[in-house]
Amino acid sequence: MGQLKNTFSWSFSAAEDFEQCRRRRYWSKYGMWGGWDRNASPEQKTAYRLCKMDNRWGLMGQAAENAIMWVLRQHQQGIPVDADAGWKNIARPFLTKKWNESAEGNWRSAPKQFCCLREHYYKTLEDENAAKKQIAAQVQNCIANFIDKVLPRIGDISPSQEFRIATPEMGGDVENFTYEGVKIYSIPDYAYKIGDEVHIHDWKAGKIKADQHKLQLSLYALWAIVKYGAALDKIFLYVEYLNEGQVLPFQITAEELEETKQLMSDSVGEMTEYLVDCDREKNTPLPKEEWELTLDPVNCSQCNFLELCRPELDAQTSC
Ligand code: SF4
Repeated sequence: MGQLKNTFSWSFSAAEDFEQCRRRRYWSKYGMWGGWDRNASPEQKTAYRLCKMDNRWGLMGQAAENAIMWVLRQHQQGIPVDADAGWKNIARPFLTKKWNESAEGNWRSAPKQFCCLREHYYKTLEDENAAKKQIAAQVQNCIANFIDKVLPRIGDISPSQEFRIATPEMGGDVENFTYEGVKIYSIPDYAYKIGDEVHIHDWKAGKIKADQHKLQLSLYALWAIVKYGAALDKIFLYVEYLNEGQVLPFQITAEELEETKQLMSDSVGEMTEYLVDCDREKNTPLPKEEWELTLDPVNCSQCNFLELCRPELDAQTSC
């Protein structure tokens, strides 16, 4: 197999990381690269391991999403299921497996294969049982709301109407498209066609953050336009707030789409300045020290890479 290339890419989460802390983007895109190789440096290996780390809120979202997609598939096959079945068959075994993996620690030697939770790694949980109970209650509520509020709206969609979306669980490269020569990662949760209309839903098991989520879904509109030639006025977007049982349905205007493109273009431009010779094709990062540490310690308290930055952060505070 040829050597893997670290291709320049952009996504909303990458842009968020970059905005919050340049160094975080360095670790997650460049510092970790090659860290899976047994000949990698200790720093590369650590960055790779920390990059793969999850957290309880991410796990909660995955559990809810797995369960509701299972409910939907059962429904499409004419098998009615209730929220309890979704919880017991899918969400609970998933959460138990991941939580146990994290506690057992096999991720030390196989970080891609086994889950490691930030809460375990950095010992930030005061009451593990209370945390588990909160996640369980929220996931169960999400499944129940999906069945009551979402399934009646999408239950008649057949698999033949659905877009195939490449997710991390499938292995290989995840859903992406190329825009102005840049690889853009964009992974809608659920999308389908009705005639020439494209409908895109995003599942949210956590809090309502309408502005941020609308912006995120505007990128999905661009995905549908670039990848499938959809017309903007035929794209319908839905943020599904599963825990609240609310939906935010909307369409975006041509002006809003331009704003999203401009945001992308500005962000890509800023990231490019952190590359040697601003060369995205070669995609060689400037030395690590050029990627500034965040000035806001709150960002560090929630960051996977704290272990790697701690010596520098400590040195800064002792100055
Ligand atoms: S620990 Fe702090 S400085 Fe280091 S990458 Fe994370 S947010 Fe940035």
